[in-house]
Amino acid sequence: MSTLRFNAVKESLKRKPLKVKEYKRRSEVFGSNVFNETAMRQYLTKDALSGILEAVEKGKKIDRVVADHISTGMKEWAISKGATHYTHWFQPLTGATAEKHDAFFETIGDGMAIEKFGGGQLVQQEPDASSFPHGGIRNTFEARGYTAWDPTSPAFIYGTTLCIPTVFVAYTGEALDYKTPLLRALQAVDNAAVDVCKYFDKNVKKVNASLGWEQEYFLIDNALAASRPDIVLTGRTLLGHSPAKGQQLDDHYFGTIPNRAMSYMRDLENECMLLGIPVKTRHNEVAPNQFELAPIYEEANLAVDHNSLLMDVMHKVAERHSLKVLMHEKPFAGVNGSGKHNNWSLSTDTGVNLLSPGKTPMSNLQFLTFFINTIKAVQTHEELLRAAIASASNDHRLGANEAPPAIISVFIGAQLTKVLEELKTVTKGKLSPQEKTDLKLNVVGKIPEILLDNTDRNRTSPFAFTGNKFEFRAVGSTANCANPMTVLNTIVAKQLIDFKAEVDALIDKKTMKKDDAIFNVLREYIKTSKSILFEGNGYSEEWEKEAKKRGLSNNKTTPEALKVKVAKPSLELFENMGVMNKVEAQARYEIEMEEYILHIQIESRVLGDIARNHVVPTAVRYQNILIENVTGLKTIYGSKFKDFAKEQLALIEQISQHIEAINSLVTKMTDERRSLNKQTNIEKKANGYSLKVKSLFDEIRYHSDKLELMIDDELWPLTKYRELLFTK
Ligand code: ADP
Ligand code: MG
Repeated sequence: MSTLRFNAVKESLKRKPLKVKEYKRRSEVFGSNVFNETAMRQYLTKDALSGILEAVEKGKKIDRVVADHISTGMKEWAISKGATHYTHWFQPLTGATAEKHDAFFETIGDGMAIEKFGGGQLVQQEPDASSFPHGGIRNTFEARGYTAWDPTSPAFIYGTTLCIPTVFVAYTGEALDYKTPLLRALQAVDNAAVDVCKYFDKNVKKVNASLGWEQEYFLIDNALAASRPDIVLTGRTLLGHSPAKGQQLDDHYFGTIPNRAMSYMRDLENECMLLGIPVKTRHNEVAPNQFELAPIYEEANLAVDHNSLLMDVMHKVAERHSLKVLMHEKPFAGVNGSGKHNNWSLSTDTGVNLLSPGKTPMSNLQFLTFFINTIKAVQTHEELLRAAIASASNDHRLGANEAPPAIISVFIGAQLTKVLEELKTVTKGKLSPQEKTDLKLNVVGKIPEILLDNTDRNRTSPFAFTGNKFEFRAVGSTANCANPMTVLNTIVAKQLIDFKAEVDALIDKKTMKKDDAIFNVLREYIKTSKSILFEGNGYSEEWEKEAKKRGLSNNKTTPEALKVKVAKPSLELFENMGVMNKVEAQARYEIEMEEYILHIQIESRVLGDIARNHVVPTAVRYQNILIENVTGLKTIYGSKFKDFAKEQLALIEQISQHIEAINSLVTKMTDERRSLNKQTNIEKKANGYSLKVKSLFDEIRYHSDKLELMIDDELWPLTKYRELLFTK
């Protein structure tokens, strides 16, 4: 009997939901571990407070004296909350978050000690950068890295540590993290959008990008998870036959949340409240044991930090509940995968959501301007957007049946499609007063009503307009949202700059007024971005053919998808928009390619090990039992034994065939790895891993899953899908 598997199942069946504290009003504890404005007002001097607020609102630099005041106040606040340590908290290019804790405690001689935390320690630190990926940046410049405080994302206490959100840069200035380019992209879109807003409202001084992510994940018992070496080492199952009951019944989605999961979610939400992460919705997802958590949207930089923090907290809270969170995009074959929809919009400091129609024709024209420019940006840079969500784990999800395909397209719904059709017929040049009135009343003016009953949804679209925001749905569940958010905001910023230039050029000719010019430019955009708009079924084969005809990219693997990041136009785009210089962009490409190779390499090794050390020996053991049985039958029945041993003999043969197939495929896979590891060209190496190594996974799995179906359940060593997915 397979001890580990059965012990794990037994263990998991004994679990009870944990009792979790319930706050009467969550709003009362919300943000209580965050150094927010309320805390600042209590702990900071007037100068310190205004210094930090101006840094947040206007991006002003904080000088050293003020930093000293801030750090003193922050330290007092943190100690009053029980914190003993502080850390610079940042997001290196590993995708995880990093921190190095230092105690406030310091000795001052003569056996005395104090709690100290100065402005210098708040503003800047030097973690050992050599242990983080840098894609050659530090080698090139022989520079060390440092972390620098990002005052736009507030400090918070987690456990007993004061965490200070920071950027991570090389001494030569190149970004070594996800946050720096994001902040630059947000600045770019702010500048560009403010300029365009001025056509409609002179009072707009700042435009913020908003992000509301929806985090999907699986929860399984941690004893069951620990019994599967593939889950432990790769975060997903590399083998395993689909259970008799899959998700065909669809009985999980929006159904009652199982008790243990419910208690986990409550606990997690409590932690989020303290940390100021405004989580709001929780529900079951389509697959068994799959769930989703979504917050109220926030300014994009803060939302990205909150998502990174959340992913960390999710794992920590799960331990208390003897659960394991599987964040992987496709932990189980044949079962829905997990994504992280990024809901995105732009809003002004005057309180207007630029992607939401307003009350007047003019504000609706503003809406149309931002709406159409976003579509045009996606049309021009669809391949770059695809690259922004590329990862080895998301490759399993994109194009699989429940997730958007690797082809980027935009869904806007039938009503807005009609609006764009009408705008396409706008007269070239100056519009007659009659036409303008007509447009404003009957086309632009009607948009709010149209959107009210616009319930169109298209689950197959990677980038969908949903009433007052775009929803970038191709993002994977493990992703750091900074990457897609950096690209999206950069391309929209670039597009808005181009738009402004074109409109201004028309206005300058004195032939057209501002709104004539805007209509004229938008009309052309609608025509030129037609190829990206798609309302049909994104899963269908016809779409793949149609998209090809339209010239849209369809990069199915990560190495194919990432290539565009280092294409000349992309490098220039990032450089010109002040988001990344060529060195930074190139470094990121290399890091992501390396990561891909490493990922497939590890999966391949683990798969080889499990197949050889778990599956094949089990198959041999079962085959021996069958042989014993057949020999026994022969002893009893002599030459007639075959009449009774037909099935057994067939099984013995089939088992041999599967064993032989597994062994030769694993050998082939190992040989491929060995030869690819000598490859020094990163592109060739990554493509080789994709086409020659990863391509064998499914074949090996096929034979193993067949064996799983044949072999005595008592002997099978790997915890089965039905146990992983249906044990509550
Ligand atoms: P869905 O139907 O996709 O579940 P929801 O209304 O539940 O949509 O919103 C999903 C996410 O979108 C939430 O995180 C929500 O805060 C966010 N969201 C809503 N409005 C906006 C907006 N204007 N900008 C950005 N995100 C938004
Ligand atoms: Mg959604």
